[in-house]
Amino acid sequence: MKSKGSLLIKLLIIQYLSSLFVAQNFDFFYFVQQWPGSYCDTSQGCCYPPTGKPASDFGIHGLWPNNNDGSYPSNCDPNNPFNQSEVSDLMSSLETNWPSLACPSSDGISFWTHEWDKHGTCSESVLDEHDYFQAALNLKSKTNLLQALASAGINPNGESYNLSDIINAINQSDGFTPSIECNDDESGNNQLYQVYMCVDTSGSNLIECSVSPTGANCANQITFPAF
Ligand code: 5GP
Ligand code: 5GP
Repeated sequence: MKSKGSLLIKLLIIQYLSSLFVAQNFDFFYFVQQWPGSYCDTSQGCCYPPTGKPASDFGIHGLWPNNNDGSYPSNCDPNNPFNQSEVSDLMSSLETNWPSLACPSSDGISFWTHEWDKHGTCSESVLDEHDYFQAALNLKSKTNLLQALASAGINPNGESYNLSDIINAINQSDGFTPSIECNDDESGNNQLYQVYMCVDTSGSNLIECSVSPTGANCANQITFPAF
């Protein structure tokens, strides 16, 4: 009896220690998508990837582990750098949905490397590199921002829209409230730049945000430029 009891206790201790080992040290993810028109029309400009001009669609910026108090971990594991061979099956989907618009022109590898090394390594206990990029790609199709906005008559045509109409359109379609980050074009027009949505720690389910991102900074009326 005694040895069975102590075996049980040992098993419980091992189970507890392994749960500590995989416990994630963040509370949720921000899933951040960028509007290419607004990345490109600032004074800083942009460069298209070698494959050419990306589609006129939101692109993924990143999937960022975050804490409920607004802080966030970064660069969590230098021993697990981005490894292209782990996402070779996702490469064409990443090129389409997660293009890099920074200059000089880049095929995306440096952008994905930056995002994995800075943010992805901080959620590696729940999502390995392949799962991390797959989760972001799944979230992009799930949120379908361009369609959500079009359903409310909001289109990238250079017109000006109420910030609250943009937020409501995405909420109506996706069921959760986004945060919007704006930037200014070369003429100083405040415009829709990035959309932040919150995701649970599994990386699969949208949730309501418990804290607004520091980037949320728009005027009440913003433009949605063409791309
Ligand atoms: P962050 O640290 O802001 O998540 O990532 C931004 C970094 O990725 C910067 O070093 C930026 O130059 C690089 N980067 C490469 N391509 C893009 C892009 O298309 N959009 C943004 N926002 N950053 C990019
Ligand atoms: P910026 O200073 O351009 O807003 O952000 C630069 C970079 O800091 C972002 O690309 C991202 O890597 C990181 N960052 C900025 N704000 C947040 C945030 O609220 N949460 C997380 N996890 N990262 C952020």
